[in-house]
Amino acid sequence: RRSMACSRYEYVKSYEQDDSILPNVWIVIRIDGKKFHKFSKVHDFEKPNDENALNVMNAAAVTVMQEFRDIVLAYGQSDEYSFVFRKETTAFKRRSAKLLTYVTSLFSSSYVLRWPHWMSQPMAYAPCFDGRVVLYPSDENLRDYLSWRQADVHVNNLYNTAFWKLVLQTGLSNQQAEERLRGTFSADKNELLFQEFGINYNNMPAMYRKGTILLRKRVVTGELPDEKCRQAIVPLHEDLISAQFWKTHSEILANKYVPGTHNATEPM
Ligand code: ATP
Ligand code: ATP
Ligand code: MG
Ligand code: MG
Ligand code: MG
Ligand code: MG
Ligand code: MG
Repeated sequence: RRSMACSRYEYVKSYEQDDSILPNVWIVIRIDGKKFHKFSKVHDFEKPNDENALNVMNAAAVTVMQEFRDIVLAYGQSDEYSFVFRKETTAFKRRSAKLLTYVTSLFSSSYVLRWPHWMSQPMAYAPCFDGRVVLYPSDENLRDYLSWRQADVHVNNLYNTAFWKLVLQTGLSNQQAEERLRGTFSADKNELLFQEFGINYNNMPAMYRKGTILLRKRVVTGELPDEKCRQAIVPLHEDLISAQFWKTHSEILANKYVPGTHNATEPM
């Protein structure tokens, strides 16, 4: 390092571009598994939802939130996770590439590290994740972004649930199942699940239908109000499209971020 300083080579440093993010915007980093269609096949994920594979994703995301304290919310579904940094964060001087690469690489390495805890099959090859930074100037933009991701999980999961029932239970081929579902609306798929398989879609596990929201909460660890509180990262599987969610968890959009409180003791 010392030998580099003041050397005639040092000017190359000036070729690096300033990528610091403008002030006062929500910084969202979304990571997504590369070719997880194949990764899930190779590792025999249960279709349409492998619960333990989702648990690995959630555990990796918790590690990221533990490391980067300015993440106020994370939202995950399928092979993706979004991390929301508070608007005022000064982490890594708001340098975009630093934030993106730290989050993406820590998520990836934690995914590998946590895998054996949840999965019985050994990992056949190293998974990788792409990452992107997206900036949202208003609270409404941020809410719409998260609503977009949650609407995505709803559409996909309803389709996949119907698709895999037709394949695994009725014995249709993949192509036949696809044809059967082509052009159907949500109501049709709900009806099909109910009529043919006796399934009330709304009773399926909330983690599959809603994805996983990670929030920081002060968790009461004892029975009495004056007993110990500690901060925990709490998983929720709620509807975040509704205004009620943002009322209940009003700390997320508050200017000065202070975690809310949570009664259930289910920190991960
Ligand atoms: P930053 O997060 O800013 O990169 P850093 O501590 O990683 O901080 P670097 O300038 O990247 O700082 O330097 C890496 C440091 O890691 C070296 O100073 C050295 O102490 C240590 N290091 C890396 N590789 C080795 C190695 N193979 N053997 C011994 N030490 C090493
Ligand atoms: P790309 O590299 O473009 O992201 P991809 O194959 O990862 O390609 P995605 O749109 O990201 O495509 O979809 C992820 C796929 O991973 C899903 O279609 C699904 O098949 C599979 N998958 C991810 N998580 C699970 C899970 N928990 N259970 C079952 N399948 C899963
Ligand atoms: Mg170095
Ligand atoms: Mg993709
Ligand atoms: Mg993917
Ligand atoms: Mg995906
Ligand atoms: Mg270093």
